[in-house]
Amino acid sequence: TYIVNDACIACKYTDCVEVCPVDCFYEGENMLVIHPDECIDCGVCEPECPADAIRPDTEPDMEKWVEFNRKYSEMW
Ligand code: SF4
Repeated sequence: TYIVNDACIACKYTDCVEVCPVDCFYEGENMLVIHPDECIDCGVCEPECPADAIRPDTEPDMEKWVEFNRKYSEMW
């Protein structure tokens, strides 16, 4: 899965949401999040992010961000 990290905070762009083929972006408290179970790992959103906030969970120490994205995706 891909996740959104805190570099997204205060970003006003939603290009990532528009390109996602499965609509798995959700509004968090002050940033966007990706639902880790709905993301199909296509990677299309990553280059659209001007803040470089969208990262694959294959990078080190991503567990907390996966859980953070899951929590806020399911909050509403
Ligand atoms: Fe959506 Fe693909 Fe990005 Fe996952 S990697 S959030 S499916 S655009």
